[in-house]
Amino acid sequence: MTSTERPFLNRRLAEFGTTIFAEMSALALSTGSINLGQGFPDTDGPEEVREAAVRALREGRGNQYPPGPGIPELRTAVAAHQQRRYGLSYDPGTEVLVTAGATEAIAAALLALVEPGDEVVAFEPYYDSYAACIAMAGGTRVPVTLRPHEGSFRLDLDELRAAVTDRTRLLLINTPHNPTGTVLTRAELTAIAELAVERDLLVVTDEVYEHLVFDDAEHVPLATFPGMRERTVTIGSAGKTFSFTGWKVGWVTSAPGLVTAVRSAKQYLTYVASGPFQYAVAEALALPESYFTAFRDDLLAKRDLLAAGLAEAGFRVFKPAGTYFITTDIRPLGESDGIAFCRALPERAGVVAIPNAVFYDHREAGAPFVRFAFCKQRAVLQEAVKRLKTLAG
Ligand SMILES: *Cc1c(COP(=O)(O)O)cnc(C)c1O
Repeated sequence: MTSTERPFLNRRLAEFGTTIFAEMSALALSTGSINLGQGFPDTDGPEEVREAAVRALREGRGNQYPPGPGIPELRTAVAAHQQRRYGLSYDPGTEVLVTAGATEAIAAALLALVEPGDEVVAFEPYYDSYAACIAMAGGTRVPVTLRPHEGSFRLDLDELRAAVTDRTRLLLINTPHNPTGTVLTRAELTAIAELAVERDLLVVTDEVYEHLVFDDAEHVPLATFPGMRERTVTIGSAGKTFSFTGWKVGWVTSAPGLVTAVRSAKQYLTYVASGPFQYAVAEALALPESYFTAFRDDLLAKRDLLAAGLAEAGFRVFKPAGTYFITTDIRPLGESDGIAFCRALPERAGVVAIPNAVFYDHREAGAPFVRFAFCKQRAVLQEAVKRLKTLAG
């Protein structure tokens, strides 16, 4: 085989050719469909936060390389947020690292902490980047499948325990969980923490939807459980919380040794990113509680609007306790293959959704499930519902 005949994409990444989002967003454009596929808001976040970014840019703050670990103002604001909300105290100097969004934090954490051959246990369906990042780190992913149970997707703790072997290095946790909307309960988190301590595992926990938790659900960071602070890398992000997903400001909080390790990988990925936006996010994190409450209430009303509409359109709806996604079951519509359904949906109904199957190793376990994003304007959601109601007819 010559060098141009050999596949360009290496073996580690061969299975991750292009993401479903590219295909579905292209379909949305070519068919003029409403895009409830990719999870980004169609309205920007608070005006004062946007203005804070403009001010930083005009005043020349952050236009050149910011400090490697992030600007001190943001590290201090992240530490204050963790303290105020969860009673977790982190030293902004040694225990907080600013990253290019949660995406880089996930990549850097896995690249830093996983040795080739180490097993990484993660829930499937996975968030988009997990499988590829585990692969880039040379790790082996071990999925634990979240299964439908009484209206939501639940973790089977026995399955989780059984997935841990002598080769397991870390648990990759995501709560609130994308795409299912599951928020792990205190009891489930207690069991995960006990398992991590008993088997001496590291934990990377993606908590980017920490502020989007509804009804009686409660977000409890894994780092708050006994024995967890020193083994847990917690990942947060401004993108989802403040509706500025293009700014790519994320962060890691953890014990000094783990932060140093993650930073070692991070410095060779982007080194630094998002200079002026770091100043704006530092201000955003200090917004009064009323901002976070109003944001959550707005998304809650949108969840209810889309959930009711999807149910009326004939889908079985798993009402999410968190995030801004609704997972549905398409079998009541006489369909069973979510990938085929989503490929046809733009032509059939003028709406784009994402098939959950692409987030599974066990594709058959995710086959009938389809995800819709509700972080869109009310009128957009109403129009989408109107279009989807034509499906049943
Ligand atoms: C959106 C998302 C991310 C990526 O966050 P960025 O800050 O935009 O990089 C990470 N994890 C989950 C679960 C997400 O939904």
